[in-house]
Amino acid sequence: MATSVVLQKVEKRYGALDVIHGIDLTIDPGEFAVFVGPSGCGKSTLLRMIAGLEEISGGTLMLDSDRMNEVAPARRGIAMVFQSYALYPHMSVYKNLAFGLETAGFKKAEIEPKVRRAAEILQIEKLLDRKPKALSGGQRQRVAIGRAIVREPRIFLFDEPLSNLDAELRVQMRVEISRLHRDLGNTMIYVTHDQVEAMTMADKIVVLNSGRIEQVGAPLDLYNNPVNRFVAGFIGSPK
Ligand code: ADP
Ligand code: MG
Repeated sequence: MATSVVLQKVEKRYGALDVIHGIDLTIDPGEFAVFVGPSGCGKSTLLRMIAGLEEISGGTLMLDSDRMNEVAPARRGIAMVFQSYALYPHMSVYKNLAFGLETAGFKKAEIEPKVRRAAEILQIEKLLDRKPKALSGGQRQRVAIGRAIVREPRIFLFDEPLSNLDAELRVQMRVEISRLHRDLGNTMIYVTHDQVEAMTMADKIVVLNSGRIEQVGAPLDLYNNPVNRFVAGFIGSPK
């Protein structure tokens, strides 16, 4: 069962700095939503609030019928993949995948099939004995995604996961993440400043500018009917 994410008038302030100005947004169960917008517009802040890594300053954030701030972080069922892979360098790929489950108290016999399945989905079965330094950038990024999969989260959050990869690998990983979404059917939220990623991967694009939503819609809606020049410029629409 996939999860919906509903934001109602969500705000974020860092001291005197208003970063998110009352965002209303619904992400439907199983949807692949992409947040785009220029650097500093609040994409990561929004994602971190959805992940529960950051308190909201105002408004309401719901996962299905759960109010986020009333659910303990460990029970939220959210996994986040960052651009820095943050793998443990001294551990094998297997250990990197298993570690979160071990600390969560799963038994060895429960962990092994979860790790094998994630490795199979990401086609890294042959790399399980290697250390991260013996992997390519794309392989490391797969392990990072694998660490999210093993936890069987309700929602996957990606914060510019491909920005450290070269152009060719970015295209390949883009296709793989889209395939992962088709196979797993989870709700996924993906942050990028890359218009091509947004246009090719999204069910729904959320265009952000200075902590506000400019427009929400399917890629072709935004392309064909941008509400203003900002959206047109960002999506690369001819209008
Ligand atoms: P994006 O991911 O779109 O580049 P961010 O969400 O990282 O944008 O940042 C949005 C704004 O919030 C920026 O002005 C940034 O400087 C500010 N900001 C982000 N995190 C913090 C923080 N921990 N303390 C103070 N200001 C922050
Ligand atoms: Mg960011």
